[in-house]
Amino acid sequence: MIHVTKTFLPPQKEYQEILKRAWESSWITNRGVLVKELEAKLKQKLGIENLTLTTNGTIPIQIAIKGLKLKGEIITTPFSYVATTSSIVWEGCEPIFVDIDPDYLTIDEQKIEEAITSNTCAILATHVFGNPCNVDFINKIAQKHNLKVIYDAAHCFGVEYNGQSILNYGDVSTLSFHATKIFHTGEGGAFVAKSSKLHTDLYYHHNFGHNGPDIFMGIGINAKMSELQAAMGLAVLPYSEEIFESRKSVVNYYDLLLNHLEVNFLKIREGTKWNYCYYPLIFKNEKQLLKVKDALAQNGVFPRRYFYPSLNTLDYVKVQEMPISESISKRILCLPLYFGLERNEIETIVKVIENNL
Ligand SMILES: *Cc1c(COP(=O)(O)O)cnc(C)c1O
Repeated sequence: MIHVTKTFLPPQKEYQEILKRAWESSWITNRGVLVKELEAKLKQKLGIENLTLTTNGTIPIQIAIKGLKLKGEIITTPFSYVATTSSIVWEGCEPIFVDIDPDYLTIDEQKIEEAITSNTCAILATHVFGNPCNVDFINKIAQKHNLKVIYDAAHCFGVEYNGQSILNYGDVSTLSFHATKIFHTGEGGAFVAKSSKLHTDLYYHHNFGHNGPDIFMGIGINAKMSELQAAMGLAVLPYSEEIFESRKSVVNYYDLLLNHLEVNFLKIREGTKWNYCYYPLIFKNEKQLLKVKDALAQNGVFPRRYFYPSLNTLDYVKVQEMPISESISKRILCLPLYFGLERNEIETIVKVIENNL
């Protein structure tokens, strides 16, 4: 069986060697040496100044909303994983959707300004499939209207835009290190803030507000990553270049075999060093997608409908029509893409698609 992704597992011995350090000190959480080492290595690897690891990739979105003291309306994208929208609602804010660009699949920056009201406090957009939003344009709008900017950068491990980490844009960026993501700690995530002062605030929020054992700097929650999670990250990290290379060759092979077919592809924004994290195909209509999906399933291949449904159709948000996002959500399918996916497997997948268009 071939699934949309396959978790990269490092050699078990290497993982155990790292775990030994936690055993020796009998210290398995509360920001031990492994979490600190992984934070330092990630900052260096990604070229960013402030990063705190968290226990998953959703809680940092919530912490960012809390830490920026957002109230009222947050402009956001309907085309993302559900966590982007649910975090807004969970924190008591209202998601105001803005439709997406049909090529880049990121929020359509041209439509943001008309959605701004006197209650708008922030923009929370997703760099979908590691494809950067139009960050410079969004930055201008945010400055003009005094809005905060949060990027859900769950897909963005290793992505660069205009020569620097995409995580350097916006007030806060959040990452997911879930087992299905390109770099992972089993469950895990991080937040990255441009301003050190804001980062310190978010840091307190992620650990109950603790500043030492007895002093509390405001309200907090428990979002700490454990040493066991960090050990996985430290074991996976040395393989990240190999993972990128392997994924790149899978993507290039798909491109080669699929480019003559009548389907649409994700367009990567100019100036991006991409990370090859997803391979979406956009079909003519939902019927065609379902036919291909069923045929693949019969051949033991299980792609995923990322992202479906369009988030503006969730039953806990106000009705807002988003024609482009709704249309694309119904027609988009992410093909299997992971370290070590074999050429013959790719050929099988492509054959089935070809035969069912
Ligand atoms: C995976 C993902 C998340 C959530 O991350 P978790 O680590 O699973 O909590 C949030 N946003 C997007 C776009 C994602 O793909």
